[in-house]
Amino acid sequence: MTTEQHHAIDAAGDGDAGYGGPPARVGGPGRATVVAFANQKGGVGKTTTTVSLGAALAQGGARVLLVDLDPQGNASTGLDVRISSEEPSTYDVIVEGLAIDRAVRATAIEGLTVLPSSLELAGAEVELVQAMARERALARAIDAARGAYDVILIDCPPSLGLLTINAFVAADQLLVPIQCEYYALEGLSQLLRTVGLVEQNLNAGLAIGTVVLTMYDARTRLAQQVVDEVRAFFGPRALGTVIPRTVRLSEAPSYAQPITVFDPDSKGAQAYQELAAEFAQRLGLTTFDAARSVAVAAATKAAELAAQQAESSRGER
Ligand code: ATP
Ligand code: MG
Repeated sequence: MTTEQHHAIDAAGDGDAGYGGPPARVGGPGRATVVAFANQKGGVGKTTTTVSLGAALAQGGARVLLVDLDPQGNASTGLDVRISSEEPSTYDVIVEGLAIDRAVRATAIEGLTVLPSSLELAGAEVELVQAMARERALARAIDAARGAYDVILIDCPPSLGLLTINAFVAADQLLVPIQCEYYALEGLSQLLRTVGLVEQNLNAGLAIGTVVLTMYDARTRLAQQVVDEVRAFFGPRALGTVIPRTVRLSEAPSYAQPITVFDPDSKGAQAYQELAAEFAQRLGLTTFDAARSVAVAAATKAAELAAQQAESSRGER
């Protein structure tokens, strides 16, 4: 860790005291806990973590809504949800006030529902500037949907603009993915400042609930250093499960499948299943069963392989 990074993280909290936000809030009985997956730094694993964790939670029996709040739409396409420009999306929910249940899509995974995004959403950032209560547009829509899910995961874009602020106002807590790489902690002070401002002005009690270390490469000493620094700063908010850097995780999006469907035996899938168990425990998700999550993923893959085999033996006859 460089001196510069130390300064960045010191400025973020109270020096060596670490992060001292309020305790993480959960939704309560019959109301989903809303978690925003955020880090304004690009490419740290926000979308991979939202999609993979969402899939593992749903396979374990939780009712999950994934809100794609990034105009890039990577979470939507990563779950094979593609929409035409006429179909409703996050844009219509935020800008037009459309109810979430009018815009959601089912996915190949039972229990995992997506509010898809489209490039149109990039315009929302500009259009909302004129709107009344522009920071609360998503919160209003999400509050109305809380009864239908156990957990609502919001995949944020890599910025701290109005879309991300909307997520922070709608959320009970944040999950911050941090990539185990050089300069991993840079920019964290900016994120913490924004969370603090939202907490004071728009959403009392908002806190960083959990931090997830991603793309861990056991071969480098630096990765372990980052893990140690993040644990020292965030304490128990840093989850024990560390996500390894694997080729399979980077391949899954091009097959439009989450890792637990694409390759449930892979190290990446196992890491996200473990993460799901830890995360569910933190949130008190009683509908989630870790053993079921693993079993459903394995059974889904076995069924897919059997269908492929039947198909190819039909071809041979
Ligand atoms: P953005 O800021 O652009 O939204 P992001 O924070 O959502 O990015 P991802 O899209 O999840 O980050 O990941 C960035 C890239 O790294 C993607 O190509 C993804 O497939 C890959 N990736 C993510 N996690 C891993 C991992 N653990 N191992 C290998 N590749 C990974
Ligand atoms: Mg992303």
